[in-house]
Amino acid sequence: MSSAAQTSDELRLRLQDVHSRIEIAAKGSHREPAAIKLVAVSKTHPAEVVRQAIDAGVADLGENRVQEAESKINEVGRERARWHLIGHLQSNKARRAVQLFDVVHSLDSAALARKLDHACREENRDVLPVLIQLDLGHEATKSGVDEKELPGIVDSVNESERLRLVGLMTLPPFFEDAELARPYFARLRELRDKLREQKKFGDGEGELSMGMTHDYLVAIEEGATMVRVGTAIFGQRQPR
Ligand SMILES: *Cc1c(COP(=O)(O)O)cnc(C)c1O
Repeated sequence: MSSAAQTSDELRLRLQDVHSRIEIAAKGSHREPAAIKLVAVSKTHPAEVVRQAIDAGVADLGENRVQEAESKINEVGRERARWHLIGHLQSNKARRAVQLFDVVHSLDSAALARKLDHACREENRDVLPVLIQLDLGHEATKSGVDEKELPGIVDSVNESERLRLVGLMTLPPFFEDAELARPYFARLRELRDKLREQKKFGDGEGELSMGMTHDYLVAIEEGATMVRVGTAIFGQRQPR
C-alpha cells in the first residue's frame, strides 16, 4: 500500500474514534451527539491531507492563520468544506478572512468587529457569523477578551450591520489533567446562558466552541456545541 493510502486509512480510523468518543461523552451527559459539531483543525497539515479528511466525511475545518489557510483553501476548494478561523486575526487581514472563512471563532475586540463589518460591505457579504473569544485564564500569551469587556463587544457585534453573534469560544490554560479545565468550560457556559437570556444571540441558542484533543470530552460534558480537534484526527502537527 502506498504511504498516502496508509495515511488516509489511519485518518479514517482516528476520525471514527473521535466520533465515537464524542457520542459516548454526549450520551453520558444526556445530550444528542448530533448537537456537537466536530471542527477538524488542520493547521500545519498540507492540502493533500485536508482532502483526505474531506473524503472521509469531515465537513468543518479549522485553521488558525489566514495566510496558511489561504493557500490551502485555494488548493482544496472554498466550497468543499466550511472553513472556521480559530486563531487571532490581525485587523489588516480582515478582508481576506471575510473572503476565506465561513465563521470566525476568534473575535477579540470591538475594533476588529468594525473592521470585519466594513470588510463584509466591501466584499458584498451579507452575513458573517462570529464567536467572541474569551480569555478566562488571564494568560498573557493567549488572545481573547476579558469577561468585563464582554458586554461592550457583544453590543458592537449586535450593532454592526453584517456580523451575527452566534456564540462564545475559549481556550483554557493547558493542564496535564483535563479535569482542571472544567471550571473554565463551565464559566463559558454561564456567560453564554446569561447572554442567551438577554436574547443576544437573536433566535440562536448560542454556540460554545470549546475543547481540543486532550480535553474535548470534559468540554462536551460542560455543554460544548463545537469541539476543535486537531492532533487526535491528523496526528502530530508538522513543522510549519
Ligand atoms: C491548534 C488548535 C486546536 C486543536 O488543538 P489539538 O490539541 O491539536 O486538538 C484547537 N483550538 C485552537 C484555537 C487551536 O489553535
